[in-house]
Amino acid sequence: MSKKQVKYIFVTGGVVSSLGKGVASASIAFLLKRHGLKVNIQKFDPYINVDPGTMNPFQHGEVFVLEDGSETDLDLGHYERFLDENLTKDNNITTGQIYSTVINRERKGDYLGATVQVVPHITNEIKDRIKKIGKINGEVDVIICEIGGTVGDIESLPFLEAIRQIGLEYGHENVLFIHLTLVPFIDSAGEVKTKPTQHSVKELREIGIQADIILCRTPRPLSREIKEKIGLFCNVSPKNVITAVDVETIYEIPLLIHEEGLDQLVLEHLKIGKNNFQLRDWKEIVQRIKSPLHQVNIGICGKYTNLKDAYKSIIEAFVHAGAENDTKVELHWISSEEIEKDGPQKYLAEMDGVLIPGGFGERGIEGKISAVQYAIEKKIPFFGICLGMQCATIAFARKFCDLRDANSAEFSTSSTNPVIDLMEEQKKITLKGASMRLGAYTCVLEKNSLAHKAYGQEKISERHRHRYEFNNKYKDVLTKAGFKITGVNPDTNLVEIIEYPNHPWFVGVQFHPELKSKPTKAHPLFREFVKAALQHKNLKLDSQLISEPEKVAAKK
Ligand code: GLN
Repeated sequence: MSKKQVKYIFVTGGVVSSLGKGVASASIAFLLKRHGLKVNIQKFDPYINVDPGTMNPFQHGEVFVLEDGSETDLDLGHYERFLDENLTKDNNITTGQIYSTVINRERKGDYLGATVQVVPHITNEIKDRIKKIGKINGEVDVIICEIGGTVGDIESLPFLEAIRQIGLEYGHENVLFIHLTLVPFIDSAGEVKTKPTQHSVKELREIGIQADIILCRTPRPLSREIKEKIGLFCNVSPKNVITAVDVETIYEIPLLIHEEGLDQLVLEHLKIGKNNFQLRDWKEIVQRIKSPLHQVNIGICGKYTNLKDAYKSIIEAFVHAGAENDTKVELHWISSEEIEKDGPQKYLAEMDGVLIPGGFGERGIEGKISAVQYAIEKKIPFFGICLGMQCATIAFARKFCDLRDANSAEFSTSSTNPVIDLMEEQKKITLKGASMRLGAYTCVLEKNSLAHKAYGQEKISERHRHRYEFNNKYKDVLTKAGFKITGVNPDTNLVEIIEYPNHPWFVGVQFHPELKSKPTKAHPLFREFVKAALQHKNLKLDSQLISEPEKVAAKK
């Protein structure tokens, strides 16, 4: 039997960054999977860091952690959410990884006698990494490969050269180039402008790549004339010019590009037979996201509140949990340093739920701790994630156990009560890259806990990214004061989940549940947190209704 030919789709970007290349790539992958194809998807990041784990979120946004513990670009989060599959380290490759592999090989003598160069050594390594993902549990039908950055960047040149070579190697019907560009609307001219698109497609052609499909990100639908103009200048048929108009929710993109016929074009170009498929379930999800019945306010007390990309998966997890609760989750970004200055009341009084996300470093920590204490006092549903769980532990120890200087060893070396301490295996680690406790670990849940009720099962697995942990020396003193440990790693005894039962909904988790939430299945803890926030809001409204006549009576 002859070997099946893998098909390649390369997605490049032009004009400006942040056009949503990751979501576009994920949406194409989603549609092709719905057509019955086995799809794998990969992102190349042109920076020299080996992975984004050593970058500041201001530089890079969220670090998305996979099951296998690799720290990856946040686009991998979109891929997993749209494809509903677990990806691996092979799905996100950086220039740093490519170069360190080639340099290590050179030192071993693998290229003895040769001058090691960008072409062919670096480009060959890139091509090998692309081809490698053509096999996962058997052969893949289509590989979608997104090239990070924007055409014209110096850093992405070797990647573009590598994909050009793949185009040549496998031929037109096996390789498709999609170029995502911006078609801006210029107010003063009262029309959309195609020139930036023309230039970026031209720039791609100079490298030797002819885009087959132009995906135009634009604020308003493109007329036939505009598509014809873009087609003419960019050397494609007007039907290959696809409008990606701005939408309310990213989950609408697959529906939109399907209506524009993009998946059909892809199948025709790659000579793949089409399969009947439906998008009814997906349309229902989008509908629920767009027109919910209820609304809740959730306060997120964090450090990078000006940069929403730093909390991408949390935002998405709330979209999913909102859809399942028929609720619009309004997120309020509160800088924990502001809470330190003004106290929590000003920012949290109107909130129906309080979430403290993951984070590193001391800045704003006391604000987070006072936010937890406020949520405890006012009985506002509380959800702590990773650092948030650690802050909850500190707040509890200070408030109920009389451990006034309770702290984390991350923030205070002088505290006599490090209720959060450095993990034993972390103590000897000096390297910073990929050295945290990373990836999926098992956790056993206590029956009748909020966590157990949410998950509906006893054993779960969640993803991690941390160095510090709950200090088990304080287990007795905290649990005697009403603190509950409801999730523990069965192999290491590491505390994974804490709860405070004397409260409507108070859960802290050492892991990152947001990384596994999907539009088709909201994460159980986010789902239950939103439900609790909704109940809190309704109770508040009820008590206001009851107290109103009482107030009137009191006045008389
Ligand atoms: N800084 C904390 C730790 O390293 C929490 C990490 C996180 O929130 N991801 O343990």
